[in-house]
Amino acid sequence: MKYEVVIGLEVHAELSTGSKIFCGCSTEFGGEPNTRVCPVCAGMPGTLPRLNRAVIDYAVRLGLALNCEITRRCKFDRKNYFYPDLPKAYQVSQLYLPICRDGSLEIESDSGMKTITIREIHMEEDAGKLIHEGGETYMDFNRCGVPLLEIVTQPDFRNADEVNAYLEKLREILKYLEICDCKMQEGSLRADVNLSVRRRFGESGEPEEYGVRTEMKNLNSFKAISRAIEYESQRQIELIESGGTVIQETRRWDDEKGESHGMRSKEDAQDYRYFPEPDLLPLEIDEEWLERIRANLPELAHLKRERYIGEYKLSAAEAAILTEHKNISDLFEAVTRESGSPIESARLLLGEVMRLMNTTNTLPEDLKLDPSKLSYLIRQVEGGKINRDALKQATEAVFVSNAEPADYIAENQLEMLSDDTLIAEKAQSVIDANPGAVEDYHNGKTKAFGFLMGQVMKQLAGSGNPEIAKRLLLELLQKT
Ligand code: ADP
Ligand code: MG
Ligand code: ZN
Repeated sequence: MKYEVVIGLEVHAELSTGSKIFCGCSTEFGGEPNTRVCPVCAGMPGTLPRLNRAVIDYAVRLGLALNCEITRRCKFDRKNYFYPDLPKAYQVSQLYLPICRDGSLEIESDSGMKTITIREIHMEEDAGKLIHEGGETYMDFNRCGVPLLEIVTQPDFRNADEVNAYLEKLREILKYLEICDCKMQEGSLRADVNLSVRRRFGESGEPEEYGVRTEMKNLNSFKAISRAIEYESQRQIELIESGGTVIQETRRWDDEKGESHGMRSKEDAQDYRYFPEPDLLPLEIDEEWLERIRANLPELAHLKRERYIGEYKLSAAEAAILTEHKNISDLFEAVTRESGSPIESARLLLGEVMRLMNTTNTLPEDLKLDPSKLSYLIRQVEGGKINRDALKQATEAVFVSNAEPADYIAENQLEMLSDDTLIAEKAQSVIDANPGAVEDYHNGKTKAFGFLMGQVMKQLAGSGNPEIAKRLLLELLQKT
């Protein structure tokens, strides 16, 4: 409690453009090593980069979603360093004029609502990968030149919980914008954690100035991030308490051991000998381009939630679950559009569909259901053609084998009996067979009606139309 933890994040998001940032090579994950490379991304001398326009679109989309100022005239800079995964020996990045600046993101965590300031978003190219195997090191350049956005916050976080809330929200936005698939295990979303500690009450009684920070890399899951934050804050506090000082360095998190190790002392910008990238012209983003991107921005999750609650009358909890994954909210909206019933659509997705996803271990992003088939089934229920058991059964058939609902209902005789004469016959026989219950009913025992109704439905083998059965049973009871 004596110390406050201060955290700032640098998140790298690999963009899901089809091709790389300065050449036409595919950005797809994996592949045989060094098969998705050309002279440009392999850094051959004399080659020239050509900027992929989609990268700008994606960067501006994110900037607008995060309330940033868009730099209308921005440029690229060279960050020079030698490392075997970077064949060019420099990375094209942005130092002086990043494409987006001064944004914000509101988060909600255990400590309440908070606005995190986004310092900047800049574009850069990814490096390759080194594979260490049997004492040898191999180089795979497939990832060289995959476009990245680096999203840098101010040191606004005070605990792991806030960090996770921010990352969750950022991930949701990246996915809704369809600019990054956010697979942490494949490295398409990576977070570096900058952390320092300070005494809450310095000599003046006010919090001290920010302390010296370390930067942690190699954090591949939310879990690892939380553990690394815990470990690093303890390490720094113990170091200070025992009279030592924290040095500014980059540390590598070892998730198996649950500890971090110093990798290198932190470089300053000048160590990289940045200079303007001479092979790329400054970039001018005109009003028209900006407007086109703005006009095509998709509705983000938090706005969807508000709309589901306000317009569709769903509860906050229902709206939250339906918008957690874009694929699910897209399906929900398509089913709602076609069935005309948001409440029934939500009920079906939150109930039967999610149950089936659970039992079959289907991930939300892999869910593929034909919205027309689900809305057809919903209309059948609402029109009194099938009951809810049949709806469940038919939904399962659609889920498992993409069955044609109309055929499935016919083949399995799921259509409800709506024939008045037949239902009345069964109701009369139930009345005749249960004089005790009939008497209870006339004596005002409501339970007795439920019992009689149950018997009638049983006689109809579950496929009777309950509305009609109820009406006829009431009529017949009046006469008894
Ligand atoms: P550099 O230029 O060395 O990369 P920056 O000033 O750009 O450093 O900051 C990098 C990240 O470190 C940012 O996310 C920022 O919020 C965070 N940061 C800066 N100072 C501190 C600090 N004292 N404690 C924790 N995080 C910090
Ligand atoms: Mg930095
Ligand atoms: Zn290439």
